[in-house]
Amino acid sequence: MLTGSSSRNNTTNLSLIGPKIEGLRQTFAAGHTKNIAWRITQLKQIKKLVVEQQEAILLGLQKDLGRCDMESWTAELGGVISEVEHTVKHLKKWMKPRKVSTPVVTQPASSYVLPEPLGTVLIIGAWNYPILLALGPLIAAVSAGNCALIKPSELSPNTSALIAQQIPKYLDQQAVAVVEGAVDETSELLKHQFDHIIYTGGELVGKVVMRAAAEFLTPITLELGGKSPCIVDSNTNLEVTAARIVWSKFMNAGQTCVAPDYVLVEKCFAPQLIEAIKVKIEAFYSANISESNDYGRIVNGRHFSRLVTYLEGQNIVYGGDNDADSSYIQPTIVLDPAVDSPLMEQEIFGPILPIITLENIQQAVPFVTKRAKPLSLYLYTKDKNFEQVVLKQTSAGMVCINDGFMFAANPNLPFGGVGASGMGAYHGKTGFDNFSHLKTIMKRSFWFDIPLRYPPFTSSKFTLLKKLL
Ligand code: NAD
Repeated sequence: MLTGSSSRNNTTNLSLIGPKIEGLRQTFAAGHTKNIAWRITQLKQIKKLVVEQQEAILLGLQKDLGRCDMESWTAELGGVISEVEHTVKHLKKWMKPRKVSTPVVTQPASSYVLPEPLGTVLIIGAWNYPILLALGPLIAAVSAGNCALIKPSELSPNTSALIAQQIPKYLDQQAVAVVEGAVDETSELLKHQFDHIIYTGGELVGKVVMRAAAEFLTPITLELGGKSPCIVDSNTNLEVTAARIVWSKFMNAGQTCVAPDYVLVEKCFAPQLIEAIKVKIEAFYSANISESNDYGRIVNGRHFSRLVTYLEGQNIVYGGDNDADSSYIQPTIVLDPAVDSPLMEQEIFGPILPIITLENIQQAVPFVTKRAKPLSLYLYTKDKNFEQVVLKQTSAGMVCINDGFMFAANPNLPFGGVGASGMGAYHGKTGFDNFSHLKTIMKRSFWFDIPLRYPPFTSSKFTLLKKLL
C-alpha cells in the first residue's frame, strides 16, 4: 500500500504561479473561451482524458486510497464521463438568452437573462475523490466559458501528479492550468485575484479561502462537509436499509463528504438494525475484511490516528480492529457515544458508525436541528407523515429518502451544502450557472415615450404612477 506517498515532488515553483494566472487572464481576455465550439471541445477532451488514462488513474487512486477499481470507476471516472455527456447535450440550451416576462410599467420592452463567463476560476480540490473533485468543477467552469486553474490535493499525491501531467496534454494549455502543492502553494494562489473560487475540503480552510477571497470581493463556492445524520424509522425495509447504509458509509473507507456520519434510531429497534448492518458488512466485505480487495484504506497516518483516537473509551459493538502499517480500520459500530465526545462533535470522515438511540424517532428532529446544518441528511421510512415532518423541520444541503447519496448521480439536482456545510452548488445546469454571471438585460423600444416618470412631478402623475406600480 502506497498511501499518501509519491515518487515525485508534487509542488509547483511558487514563482511560476503568478505568471500562470496572468497567462490565463490574458487567454480569457482574448475571448475564444466564450465560443461554444471551444467549450464543447474542452469538455470532450476531459472525457477523452478519463477514458484513455483510466488504467493510470485507477492505479493512482489505488495507491492514494487503497481503493478498488470498481468503486473508483463508479464514484469518480463514471461520474466525470456522465457529467461531460450531460453538459455537452444541454450546453447550447443553457447558453441561450433566458426570456422573462416584462411588466406593463416597463413596456414596450423585452427582458432576458444572458449567461456570461466570469473569467478565471480557481479550483481547490480535496483528496477523498481527487479526480471527481478536480474535474467535476472543471467541467462546470469550462462549460460556462471560463479559464481555470486546478490545485489538486497534496494528500492524494499520485492522482495530483497525474492531473498535472495529463491536463496539459488534453486541454487548451492557454486556458486550463494546474498548480501542485500544499499550504504554501495554495496560500500563494490565494494572494492573486480570481473571478471565482471553488474550494472543496474542511471548514477551517474554507474560512481561510473565504477571507482571502474577500480581499478581491471574489465570489466563492464552498463545498464543505459536516456531520450528516441518518434517521432510521422502525417502519422501514430493514434489509435494504442496512445494505444502503453500509454501502454509503463504508465506501472509500468512510472518507466521503456525503457519507452518513451517524444513525439515529429508536432504542427498541436498534438491536435489529445493528444486527442487519453487521450482516451486510460481512456480506459485502467478507468476515475477514482486511483481506477484502473491495475495502479501502485511510489516506494517511494523521487521519488514521485521528480516527483511532475517536474510538477511545467508546462502546464498540462491532469492529474496532485497525493496523497503522496498512492504514486499515475495520468498519466499526459504536453504540450511544456521549454527544460531547470528539466522535460526535467532529465530522468522522472514516469507517466508524455511531448509532444513537432515542426513546421516540420524533426526537431525531430536535437532535438534528440543534446542530450545524449538515451537507446531507438521510431518512429511511415508509411513513409519509414522518417524511414530511423531517423535510419541513430540518435543514440540510441535500436529502435522500430511503437511500444513501444517490442524489449525486442525478445531474439535474444541485450538489452543495447550506450554512456550515457550504455555499453555492454545482453539477449540471446548476454548475453552469454557478460559474456564469446571469446578466440582466432589458431592451426598450423608442416606439413611444410616456413622460409619466419625468419631472416636473405633479399630483396627477403621482396618483397614476401609484396605480401602475
Ligand atoms: P484536504 O486536506 O485535501 O484540503 C483541501 C484543499 O485545501 C487541498 O487542496 C489543500 O492543499 C488545501 N489546504 C489545506 N490547508 C490549507 C491552508 N492552511 N491554506 C490553504 N489551503 C489549504 O482536504 P480535507 O480538508 O481533509 O477534506 C476533508 C473535508 O472536505 C471533509 O470535511 C469533507 O466532508 C469535505 N469534503 C467536501 C466535499 C463536498 O463536495 N462538499 C467533497 C469532499 C470532501
